[in-house]
Amino acid sequence: MTATPPFDFAHDVTACFLRYVVIDTQSDPASPTCPSTEKQKDLGRVLAQELRDLGLRDAHLDEHGYVYATIPATSDKKVPVICFCSHMDTSPDCSGKNVKPQIVKNYRGGDIVLPVDTTQVIRVADNPALKDQIGHDIITTDGTTLLGADNKAGLAEIMDAARFLVANPQIRHGTIKILFTPDEEIGRGVDKVDLTKLGADFAYTMDGETAGYVEDETFSADGAVITIEGVSAHPGFAKGKMEHAIKIAAAIVERLPKDTCSPETTDGKQGFLHPIGISGALEKATLSLIVRDFTDDGLAEKEALLQSIVDDVMTAYPHSTATLEIKPQYRNMKQVIDRYPQMVEYAVEAIQRAGLKPVRSSIRGGTDGSRLSFMGLPCPNIFAGEHAFHGRTEWVSVQDMEKAVQTIVHLAMIWEERA
Ligand SMILES: [Zn+2]
Repeated sequence: MTATPPFDFAHDVTACFLRYVVIDTQSDPASPTCPSTEKQKDLGRVLAQELRDLGLRDAHLDEHGYVYATIPATSDKKVPVICFCSHMDTSPDCSGKNVKPQIVKNYRGGDIVLPVDTTQVIRVADNPALKDQIGHDIITTDGTTLLGADNKAGLAEIMDAARFLVANPQIRHGTIKILFTPDEEIGRGVDKVDLTKLGADFAYTMDGETAGYVEDETFSADGAVITIEGVSAHPGFAKGKMEHAIKIAAAIVERLPKDTCSPETTDGKQGFLHPIGISGALEKATLSLIVRDFTDDGLAEKEALLQSIVDDVMTAYPHSTATLEIKPQYRNMKQVIDRYPQMVEYAVEAIQRAGLKPVRSSIRGGTDGSRLSFMGLPCPNIFAGEHAFHGRTEWVSVQDMEKAVQTIVHLAMIWEERA
């Protein structure tokens, strides 16, 4: 098959997607190994073999569960090496075992009731993006598991783009690297990545939501742990002596901002303080929080507020101590990506060439790309079409996945054109 613009893509992305989602790849935050679950390698082996079948001879799955492959250049120009990256694991929040996908062909609008567990309904009210899907083919589960479009849509899109580029050597592009990672959902997706072996200059994760979106901003993130040492005494003889660590922890939680600065009261570019764990007894208690903002100053402000709440509460407990420890987690990738404005410019142009309206946006969370960017591989995030992920009403449309494939192909061409 050969093609010239406008291409006949003859997409294979849906077939790829349906093959990948039936392989259970749920990651496990409690596991210390990498990958956290051995079953992620079941999919890794399939992907590596499919890449070799395409003719990408260096494709392989390594011992940590990462898949690497190279699409050789078809251009003599010196083109930066770009990488496309997706993650193989699915969220620990919802079962990914025995996924039974169904396709709602030629969607006519309205809520979609899932066939096996009919209490699971994909409602237009919760999914305004459905309004842009009229006439599309929508893939859902049967209502008993998640779908895993996050991020198997990305895997399928990269695989289909690789197939297309290999089949059309007349399309000019530089060396393209493919990277599939394990354990993104548990925040460990790039722990064991070998960037020297990968050898890419720039990368894109294909892990965004709505068609047309490119995201070059993530939260900056810290963890905060407050360790409280109270004063224990026999409850029958505690008057004037006992300082209860659990009550101190509760007092700190009670003083956290309620109408602002919490996940349930913020959106857009606002950050928050968010308690995620509490444990303890009379003598000692631990309170864990996460701190999120888009700027370092915003993080520092929230951490100062937390410290002032702790100090204030502790004035009532003179014989107890509370120490606040901040642990950096990840940083807004914009700090890195802004140094290479062509990355997002080219992505915007590729999305346009694929026939979509590009939208630049930010992510209220982190991606593999935020950490890769700070490890030296700048990495914005491009839409994959996945919606309502981490739950049983997850869905993706065939047509959005096809647009993502086209975006990848055009992006590879644009890097070559501009080199
Ligand atoms: Zn994802």
